[in-house]
Amino acid sequence: MRLVLASNNAKKLGELQSLFAPLSLQLVTQGSLGVAEAEEPHVTFIENALAKARHAAQHANAAAIADDSGLCVDALGGSPGVLSARYATLFDRPKSDDENNRVLLEQLALHDDRRARFVSALVAVRSVDDPEPLIAFGRWEGEVLREPRGAGGFGYDPLLFIPSLGKSVAELSAEAKNTHSHRAIASHQMLALMREVWRLG
Ligand code: IMP
Repeated sequence: MRLVLASNNAKKLGELQSLFAPLSLQLVTQGSLGVAEAEEPHVTFIENALAKARHAAQHANAAAIADDSGLCVDALGGSPGVLSARYATLFDRPKSDDENNRVLLEQLALHDDRRARFVSALVAVRSVDDPEPLIAFGRWEGEVLREPRGAGGFGYDPLLFIPSLGKSVAELSAEAKNTHSHRAIASHQMLALMREVWRLG
C-alpha cells in the first residue's frame, strides 16, 4: 500500500520513515508528488494534523498520514504549541530553529518552572472523505534548559532535557531519540491501529 507523508520537514520525515519501516508500506512524500504544503490554521495539534492529512489525500488521491508536533511549556500556558515552527516570527524575528530557541530562552528567563513536553499528533486517512481517521498522540516530558546542549536532532532538541535519560534530546543518538520520543510513542500507536483497522501486515 502507498501512503503519502504530508510533511516536507526532512528531519521529521527521516524519523517517521524509520519508525514506519516495520509495515509493508511504500512511503512517499507529498513534495515528491508536487503537492503543496497545507494551511495549519487550527489551535490544536490534532486538528492541524487532520487538515494536513486530508489535504495530502485530496491532492495525491491516495491514503495519507500527517504529523503535527511541537513543544508545550507549562509556564507559558502551552506555548509555543502549534506555533512551534514559527515561534520567533511572533516576536518579529526570522523563522529559524536557532531564533525559536533564543526566543524561548528569553520568554522563560524569569521562570523557575521549566517543565515542558514534546507533543506529536499523527493522523492517517485512506481518502479525503475517510469518516474514520486513525488518530495517535505521543507526549515526551522534559525540562527547558537555560542554554542549548548537544548537536543532534532539530528544532528545540538542544533545549529539552530529559531527566530520566540525563541528557538533552540533542545529546541522544538518532536511535535513542526514535526509541523514546513523542513521535515514537505516537508512531507505535499508529502502527497498531493500521494493523488492526486497515489490516496492514
Ligand atoms: P509542524 O511541522 O507544524 O508540525 O511543526 C513542528 C515544529 O515543532 C518543528 O519545526 C519544531 O520547532 C518543533 N518540533 C516538533 N518535533 C520536534 C522534535 O522532535 N524536536 C524538536 N523540535 C520539534
